[in-house]
Amino acid sequence: MASKYVYFFGDGKAEGKGDMKNLLGGKGANLAEMTAIGLPVPAGFTITTEVCTEFYKNNRQYPPQLKAEVEEQLRQVEKLMGKRFGDPKNPLLVSVRSGARASMPGMMDTVLNLGLNDQTVQGIIEQSGDPRFAYDSYRRFIQMYSNVVLDLDGDILEDILEQMKELRGVHQDTELSAEDLRQLVTKFKNKVKEVLGRDFPEDPQEQLWGSIGAVFGSWMNPRAITYRKLNNIPAEWGTAVNVQSMVYGNMGDDCATGVAFTRNPSTGEKVFFGEFLINAQGEDVVAGIRTPQPINKAGGDGSLPSMEEVLPDCYEQLMEVQATLEKHYRDMQDIEFTIEKHKLYMLQTRNGKRTAKAAVKIAVDMVTEGLISEKEAVLRVEPDQLDQLLHPSLDPSAPKNVVAKGLPASPGAAGGEVVFSADEAEEAARIGLKVILVRVETSPEDIHGMHAAQGILTARGGMTSHAAVVARGMGKCCVAGCGDIKVDYKAQQFTARNGVVVKKGDVITLDGSTGEVMLGSVPTVQPEMTGDFGRLMEWVDKFRRLKVRTNADTPQDSAVARQFGAEGIGLCRTEHMFFEAERIMAVREMILAEDLEGRKRALSKILPMQKGDFLGLFREMKGLPVTIRLLDPPLHEFLPHTDKEIEDLARVMNVQAATLKNKVEFLHEFNPMLGHRGCRLGITFPEIYDMQVHAIMEAACQLIKEEGYEIVPEIMIPLVGEVKELAILRSNAIRVADEVISRYRVDVQYLIGTMIELPRAALTADEIAREAEFFSFGTNDLTQTTYGLSRDDAGKFLPYYVEREIYPNDPFVALDQGGVGQLVKMGCEKGRQTRPEIKLGICGEHGGEPSSVIFCHQAGLDYVSCSPYRVPIARLAAAHAALLEEQGR
Ligand code: ADP
Ligand code: MG
Ligand code: MG
Repeated sequence: MASKYVYFFGDGKAEGKGDMKNLLGGKGANLAEMTAIGLPVPAGFTITTEVCTEFYKNNRQYPPQLKAEVEEQLRQVEKLMGKRFGDPKNPLLVSVRSGARASMPGMMDTVLNLGLNDQTVQGIIEQSGDPRFAYDSYRRFIQMYSNVVLDLDGDILEDILEQMKELRGVHQDTELSAEDLRQLVTKFKNKVKEVLGRDFPEDPQEQLWGSIGAVFGSWMNPRAITYRKLNNIPAEWGTAVNVQSMVYGNMGDDCATGVAFTRNPSTGEKVFFGEFLINAQGEDVVAGIRTPQPINKAGGDGSLPSMEEVLPDCYEQLMEVQATLEKHYRDMQDIEFTIEKHKLYMLQTRNGKRTAKAAVKIAVDMVTEGLISEKEAVLRVEPDQLDQLLHPSLDPSAPKNVVAKGLPASPGAAGGEVVFSADEAEEAARIGLKVILVRVETSPEDIHGMHAAQGILTARGGMTSHAAVVARGMGKCCVAGCGDIKVDYKAQQFTARNGVVVKKGDVITLDGSTGEVMLGSVPTVQPEMTGDFGRLMEWVDKFRRLKVRTNADTPQDSAVARQFGAEGIGLCRTEHMFFEAERIMAVREMILAEDLEGRKRALSKILPMQKGDFLGLFREMKGLPVTIRLLDPPLHEFLPHTDKEIEDLARVMNVQAATLKNKVEFLHEFNPMLGHRGCRLGITFPEIYDMQVHAIMEAACQLIKEEGYEIVPEIMIPLVGEVKELAILRSNAIRVADEVISRYRVDVQYLIGTMIELPRAALTADEIAREAEFFSFGTNDLTQTTYGLSRDDAGKFLPYYVEREIYPNDPFVALDQGGVGQLVKMGCEKGRQTRPEIKLGICGEHGGEPSSVIFCHQAGLDYVSCSPYRVPIARLAAAHAALLEEQGR
């Protein structure tokens, strides 16, 4: 059977069954669904995403039967509306709207009032008896169509409109008369002809197909491509096109258009929240043409009357609809509506974007309200999003120099140097600068700069403006609509109301939770892990199987991680301990020593300090498992490299500079990543590892004996590629450990295991498991060695690889499941073959990245280990993994 390409919705009926989002796009599917549950939606039809896919497959040709299907559906809409498309007496006007599966800025903007020409506009006048409305619609149509379909710079016609307003001495477009608007139409058309060298299309059919073509064409425009890349949306999805009969919010003062959220998208509070404009159309509310009014008294500051007050009957309809929508979708909705002569029409609904704080609160509240289950609540919060909640916010007791206040559009705190364009923001971020992007308002062209910036400040636009919506989606701090500042792009500065001038490069701080803009940088404080967040995380812990540990080398890091719910330390890097001021000297002495005796002497100075380190860690972790990795980096990392540094050190150490220099040269390696490091150090200088094992076991024995701790230290040997390496080092470690134990006369268990971080280790994991009681996959090195890719040198080409989609992701961020992941799986299987009870974990950076955590769950690991701040993210991702598995996904 041939595909059906066009689906109708209207009059309480919608074609298609079940979840139609993939085929009809988000907007189309929800228009159909709202129609089917009896909400007032203007009739229309949706051209499927499949048409888009075929369009690109077939060299930008439509499927042959598309035209006929569109014709047929248009007839249906005409019948229902009692109007005809292109009819000069009683014309049907439509909107043409794009809509992919996921809502996507960067796509073609909507064209409204399509079907207008010099004849049909007369029909609209006759039917409505309102020439002003008719010409307002007509001039809007020409503006939108010229801009989005004919690609005419929007400013060209906007300027003519501005001139007209100036000429008439008015500020708002609503103040222009019918005659003014009629003249504008003529001027617009002349201008289009002058600039583009052709007439504005009068034929409604040509207008319709022009718009449909522009929607499909926009799927491959650079903005859309960038957005898809940033959000991992595959190009194969395609977009749908929605053609819908018009309803009019610009027919007078009993008409309006607006947008709303069923709950507050910033805080999550269960308060209906939104903005609207009287006598307006389409995007007027978000475009910042006039200052929008609040939907209800609760949402405003009292300066403008709310809809609840001026159109109470409409507000009542809207309240009812929003309640219906929340019940139906069981999630917070972001809605768009129009009121035509006191009658409400729904034009869009979707699950609303929200801040992490709101996501958590809404999920928890909806469980309390009985709308969703605990499991659903857990799945409602994206692990990555939690990042926003885990980072510091402004210290409330710090002094602040507030110079302006705008809308608290997206919470969090951010500081950085001011820049005024998206390109500059991107440029600055590339060289590691933290910047705040300051714009009059943002548009989809600014996405890359918003991404690069720490925070966004705009002078214009409301809580639903582009900047606000996109920033919330990105989890980025944003202060919007800050009328207190005047932005001067030319002078590269902004002026606050009190006269303070902030220039490009000056540091400011934004508080997205209060809307405050401060001069300079402001200190921050740690987040709270209680309340709704705490409740959600309790459910998370109930559903996950994978344990979550942390990578920590200090008691302080361990304390933070425990607060975040870490269940142990998965990786303590002992080398970090060597760098501290008093010890580095002893370490260098050890490196410079001429013989074993000299090395031992130096090591005996380090021993008590190392023991102290482990006492601190064990105490902080209160009996939770702690994995300690023996020294990993090559020894030259502990020596200076420049002549000047070498001379300084020689003086301090009281050795010849030449001797020191010789040693540095001797230790030099062409490829340190693959050099004399890890267990290779332990093999050639066994006394180093002996000292470390000694320190670990003394610390454990002491705490067990004297303070009653229950500790099972896990000693981890890095960079093993051959089982014999591990066999030798294990027997050394056992000798030292047992010596200490017998000296303390306590019964202490301990484990000896290894990192699996070389492909050969994974390939021979069955042999290695004979000598290892646990494996920890060191996926940073394993990624480097599997790809043959040095992370330190990858910066020159890796971004290009990711941009060109040669690699789907940065493999140091998201675990490469197809390659490195296969080695992990093989390592697990082979390890368990030899030793079924072997403990398996991962301690690379990937342990805190959600897609990698899900992979680790599927591969059957026992735990992941990640940096302290990512522990809650890993816990949530682990719960998602378990729940998705349960659902068979
Ligand atoms: P976006 O994807 O950018 O949100 P939409 O397709 O939702 O674009 O269109 C933007 C706005 O245009 C809508 O919120 C609505 O106000 C207006 N609009 C779209 N279709 C119609 C219509 N058939 N009648 C009246 N207004 C419409
Ligand atoms: Mg838009
Ligand atoms: Mg919309």
